[in-house]
Amino acid sequence: MDRIFIGDAINKVGEVVLLKGWVHARRNLGKMVFFDLRDRTGLMQVVVPPKADEAALQAAKEIRPEFVVAVTGKVQARKPGSENDKLASGKVEVLAESLEIINSAKTPPFEIDNEERQANEELRLKYRYLDLRHERMTRNIKLRSDVIRYVMDYLTDRDFTYIQTPMLSKSTPEGARDYLVPSRVHRGKFFALPQSPQQYKQLLMVAGFERYFQIAPCFRDEDARADRSPGEFYQIDIEMSFVEQADILDLTETMFSSMVKKLFPKKRLTFEPWPRLKHADVMQQYGTDKPDLRKDKNNANELAFAWVTDFPLFTEQTKEDFFHGSGKSKWAPSHHMFTRPKEEDLPLLDSDPGKVRSYQHDLVLNGLEVGGGSLRIHNTAVQEKVWNLIGFSTEQKQQFAHLIEAFTYGVPPHGGIAPGLDRLVSILCGEKNIREVIAFPLTGDVRDPLMGAPAEVSAEQLEELGIKISDKSE
Ligand code: ASP
Repeated sequence: MDRIFIGDAINKVGEVVLLKGWVHARRNLGKMVFFDLRDRTGLMQVVVPPKADEAALQAAKEIRPEFVVAVTGKVQARKPGSENDKLASGKVEVLAESLEIINSAKTPPFEIDNEERQANEELRLKYRYLDLRHERMTRNIKLRSDVIRYVMDYLTDRDFTYIQTPMLSKSTPEGARDYLVPSRVHRGKFFALPQSPQQYKQLLMVAGFERYFQIAPCFRDEDARADRSPGEFYQIDIEMSFVEQADILDLTETMFSSMVKKLFPKKRLTFEPWPRLKHADVMQQYGTDKPDLRKDKNNANELAFAWVTDFPLFTEQTKEDFFHGSGKSKWAPSHHMFTRPKEEDLPLLDSDPGKVRSYQHDLVLNGLEVGGGSLRIHNTAVQEKVWNLIGFSTEQKQQFAHLIEAFTYGVPPHGGIAPGLDRLVSILCGEKNIREVIAFPLTGDVRDPLMGAPAEVSAEQLEELGIKISDKSE
């Protein structure tokens, strides 16, 4: 007999089925053993009656939570009064004819079936494969997959090409600290993991793809923040050619609005269309560039999306901006250095750079920034001016020579956006902590307690790379 899922067995009253999965919870009621069987589609109550075969009775005695079992039995309606409205399968149960233990299981370090788990995060991450068995976690990860699928379908249906860009790239002073990967073949040289595919997606516009997207992993060696997972995160990375800013906003807005309606039908959009606000106005009215525009902040199902545009091109440079530029200059890009200044403000680049506004757009949801993007500079002289203003040295400019060279071969006007997948999904799933929607996140202090990463490597590996660790205590 072929194994079927619990979700399908619900509709097979009167039929004998084969189910496989994990023992979720077990109860003895007199001579009968009851347990809930769990597979990826849900829970099913299984009854092992005294008349089941000998092996089944023996197995029923032995099973404990998280044992992996196979059950053959007839699907039957539960007795009136014993139905469970909380379960999709609450009106039926399986009367076991045979029960086989496929694998036993140790007692998990925390309860899987307890919604109010008190387990601390270290333990949950160390045993993430058990933590992910929890219904809420399984649901989050599946919703994340649904969001990715929706975006993939939506954009491919609209002529976007999915293009994977390299993970092993070059360290450029782009805004954050890079993760470096030593090269064995080219001793003493390093790859950098991409902070975002920014340069590649612009190069793809030069290449003529016109509409690119990717679910892009991004790596930034920054300290963790409440709403940012340290190490790596994912962006829905989009770039388009021959577009105005409004085209990028329209596309993103219709994609996410329709996605929310399809995948999160309980959620309500506060605004349709989403408000498009100017940076100066939001700052004046709300004192923040990420205003929470929900009408009822206690309503978990309210989604207040908004756009903020017309940002100043520059902010004052701080110590954290060291990687942007010289660290000594007055200005840092408020988005990134490829963001195009507004046409009418171009003369201010020379006279009053602090007043220049840009074609940056931020996507705000319930008071959090869930994405940003811009129209890009496609004029070499303007790029040069921006670099000078952020204090780039000739060497630093030289690190982007490939992009400037590419622009000399016919660059279309282009722009894009990169909504943060993790943050967006966490808000849609009603999770405060972004790690609740990532299968294997790092801890706040940048470790993976499950794999034990980061870890030391052997002396031979270091030798091969020509690397000496000078002081481990640093
Ligand atoms: N690459 C940018 C970022 O990571 C997004 C964009 O400008 O499209 O913020």
